[in-house]
Amino acid sequence: MANTQYPESYYAASANAVPPRPVLQDDVETDVCVIGAGYTGLSSALFLLENGFRVTVLEAAKVGFGASGRNGGQIVNSYSRDIDVIERTVGPKQAQLLGEMAFEGGRIIRERVARYNIQCDLKDGGVFAALSARQMGHLESQKRLWERFGHTQLELMDQRRIREVVGCDQYVGGMLDMSGGHIHPLNLALGEAAAVESLGGTIYEQSPAVRIERGANPIVHTPQGKVRARFIIVAGNAYLGNLVPELAAKSMPCGTQVITTEPLGDELAKALLPQDYCVEDCNYLLDYYRLTADKRLIFGGGVVYGARDPANIEAIIRPKMLKAFPQLKDVKIDYAWTGNFLLTLSRLPQVGRLGDNIYYSQGCSGHGVTYTHLAGKVLAEALRGQAERFDAFADLPHYPFPGGQLLRTPFAALGAWYYGLRDKYGL
Ligand SMILES: Cc1cc2nc3c(=O)[nH]c(=O)nc-3n(C[C@H](O)[C@H](O)[C@H](O)COP(=O)(O)OP(=O)(O)OC[C@H]3O[C@@H](n4cnc5c(N)ncnc54)[C@H](O)[C@@H]3O)c2cc1C
Repeated sequence: MANTQYPESYYAASANAVPPRPVLQDDVETDVCVIGAGYTGLSSALFLLENGFRVTVLEAAKVGFGASGRNGGQIVNSYSRDIDVIERTVGPKQAQLLGEMAFEGGRIIRERVARYNIQCDLKDGGVFAALSARQMGHLESQKRLWERFGHTQLELMDQRRIREVVGCDQYVGGMLDMSGGHIHPLNLALGEAAAVESLGGTIYEQSPAVRIERGANPIVHTPQGKVRARFIIVAGNAYLGNLVPELAAKSMPCGTQVITTEPLGDELAKALLPQDYCVEDCNYLLDYYRLTADKRLIFGGGVVYGARDPANIEAIIRPKMLKAFPQLKDVKIDYAWTGNFLLTLSRLPQVGRLGDNIYYSQGCSGHGVTYTHLAGKVLAEALRGQAERFDAFADLPHYPFPGGQLLRTPFAALGAWYYGLRDKYGL
């Protein structure tokens, strides 16, 4: 991994102070070696430490260097695939377990924030905004479906009601999830890392896992040290590269971009989002936005298949922001950055075990803030011998992208272009 510093993001500029962390230069022994200090790795580490395991975390760059420290900060519950599609694929029994878990990640985040006193600007309330009657119909059917799985907190909003919570007249209606919300994502990761250390876990930064020696007693090698462990958790997601070739074959790193305005002031901020909820629209290539604690607008959208960094992020995202909020035409953009998430063909997470002792979770395909927190719990349960919920994820079928490693990028872009056209013409 070439660059190991945080991007020049609003989050890096407003990060809470953290102590320097060591580089691994020894031969250490532990129960679980976690590879990657994003939410998946940190959440796994926390649940394991709380259950008496010794944990060592290896991070190639810095805590929250990946998507966990760069994302839109939206606590969006459920998965990147509708639960009825999941049900048709895997049948009612497995879908029931997955459906019951779909809103648990948001609860885990709130529990972590409260228990470890994490300062990350947590706010409640997330809006799914419909741009067409077809999208509104979809939200109505999703609400009915979620009620079947016991999630009854969702509120449908007609055009008048959504106008009360989003100062934008593009939407025909929407759905409000008060168990959704938003956070400063890097500060959440940094707070979770501090919690890991408070429980006796060790985090090494600038210490990439470069080789895994598999077997009954696996060893993870870094450039200057090694970790001997009973178990390994692979949590490198879109930044993992080819460390575990079996995982790379069925997933594809994709880039997505975010901009942040200058502070808008109380009056303008309140005109855009009076209740301070976060918003994502219902397009396939969706736009999402929210206010920060100091009343800037963070706006994200678009996907670059294959994770190339676009040259001028502001030129890509600003027009989307102005379409939603023309009143921001004279507002300055203070920060613009890109980050990678991991896409799977089914848009469902890739979870499983290699041999007896290497566990992994990755590829939640965009909506990962809540899922990754749940994943940590489910992986920890599996290591403790309770694998029912782990198996519900591990049994999801996954397929390689058409075109293989060489052609998967243009093929996926073609698919997205098709869905983009459907969004554009409201089909
Ligand atoms: C710009 C952007 C906006 C997003 N917005 C949202 C949003 O608003 N809401 C939402 O729900 N989801 C969002 N997502 C998705 C969400 O952020 C991710 O799904 C989630 O953070 C993934 O967490 P993770 O821990 O699995 O991976 P990451 O956070 O990417 O962490 C992986 C870590 O592993 C490390 N690593 C990789 N390889 C190695 C190695 N060999 N050795 C050691 N360490 C290694 C990396 O350096 C990195 O720190 C967004 C993603 C992006 C990129």
